[in-house]
Amino acid sequence: SPAFAGKRYAVLGLARSGQAVVSTLVTSGAHVMAWDSRDEPRQGLCEWVDCGKVELGDPTTADIAGYDGIVVSPGIPLNRHPIAEAGQRAGVPVIGDIELFALARPSLPAHRVVGITGTNGKSTTTSLVHHILTVAGVPARVGGNIGVPVLSDDPLPEGGVYVLELSSYQIDLTFSLDCEVAALLNITPDHLDRYEGFAGYAASKARLFEMQAKDHRAVFGTTDKDTRAIARIEAARREPGFVRMAGGEDFAKLQKDWPSLQGPHNLQNAAVAIAIVEALGIGKTQWKKALRNFRGLPHRMERVAEANGVIYINDSKATNPASAAPAIAAFPPTDRGNGPEPRIHWILGGLPKGEDLDECAPYFGNIAAAYTIGDAGPLFADLLAPYTRIHRSEMMAEAIRQAMAEAKPGDIVMLSPACASFDQFRDFEARGNAFRQIVEALLTPDDAVE
Ligand code: ADP
Repeated sequence: SPAFAGKRYAVLGLARSGQAVVSTLVTSGAHVMAWDSRDEPRQGLCEWVDCGKVELGDPTTADIAGYDGIVVSPGIPLNRHPIAEAGQRAGVPVIGDIELFALARPSLPAHRVVGITGTNGKSTTTSLVHHILTVAGVPARVGGNIGVPVLSDDPLPEGGVYVLELSSYQIDLTFSLDCEVAALLNITPDHLDRYEGFAGYAASKARLFEMQAKDHRAVFGTTDKDTRAIARIEAARREPGFVRMAGGEDFAKLQKDWPSLQGPHNLQNAAVAIAIVEALGIGKTQWKKALRNFRGLPHRMERVAEANGVIYINDSKATNPASAAPAIAAFPPTDRGNGPEPRIHWILGGLPKGEDLDECAPYFGNIAAAYTIGDAGPLFADLLAPYTRIHRSEMMAEAIRQAMAEAKPGDIVMLSPACASFDQFRDFEARGNAFRQIVEALLTPDDAVE
């Protein structure tokens, strides 16, 4: 497509989405200056450098006056990186790949865009919307924060729907994305290190809706007051019916339609997903059929094994206390003949994001024992000691071994770390895979290995 013919862009950060950005820009006629903190330019890029389509240079120091934009990866914290200042000095906007996609839209086959944001539940809701559309026969693709670059050399056919998961950082780098349907699940404190307080974080989410034309639709979760406040503002500037609140009494009915559903938080995700697909014209029979066989995502309350009456759950994606809370809320004490007993063996820890576990505290009564791992071990052991038994182990394997030894039939062994993974793992996926593999290995009888 000729979307960027004659334009000049600098690209900073050449991981997956950065490479897709360079590829799109080069093939649609732009001049590109690219830079990565790694010394060696990545493969693929070298060919373009060789044939003169890409110039290597660091836009924080190079002369970028007259460029149309600096495309940065959302992994770069703008408040701590000199690139924002360099852009300002040169009068060049700092944008992300989502903005580039927004700018390229007129040159793509006719399509619609759904944008989904929120503190928690984005990936689940994005995948669910994609699943329902696919079952309904609508060409659809996920993109954005979910890990699939939205820019590609192979756009959707006419009538397709791009379902974009958007983090606050991505919204901060986007200025002209007018979503046909935009959704906000919830807002709870997270990532405050990058924002000047909670208000800045909420304002970032609100911008997704401010970018929309007012005859486009908006969907909001109902559980927190900040989300409801943004919904009220949006309702005031649109015609009645263009803003939909998704939640409340629908929840009870939904549970019947989604048998593999785990935890009330997924009902919020389902309610928002349904409101989104209805706004796109998908009828009730179609979404009901799709919900019935949606299996959810790996690492999000994923049931990985069941043995001797004990269920093993991988919730590695819960990287903060707010997302671990619904996981431990989902399994209340049961009565196995001796009165209600807690049954969760909670494996938690990693790199802590704060100083407390406040969001989880209301559900401490569900915890039979806690097994701490990683850097957060001492902190969490102190916080949990008044409420439950603590086993401190440095490594995941040891924590699982202990939990397995203690768990009784009817109990749950669950990894829901409430922490980032980077002290011990590459990312939350690696952490979740480790959990699953260790559980499987420990459950395999020794003689089966021979
Ligand atoms: P995200 O993409 O926003 O990080 P995910 O869909 O990957 O969210 O879910 C991550 C974790 O967050 C889940 O394992 C669950 O513990 C929690 N979670 C999911 N949906 C919600 C929700 N609607 N409200 C609160 N917590 C949620």
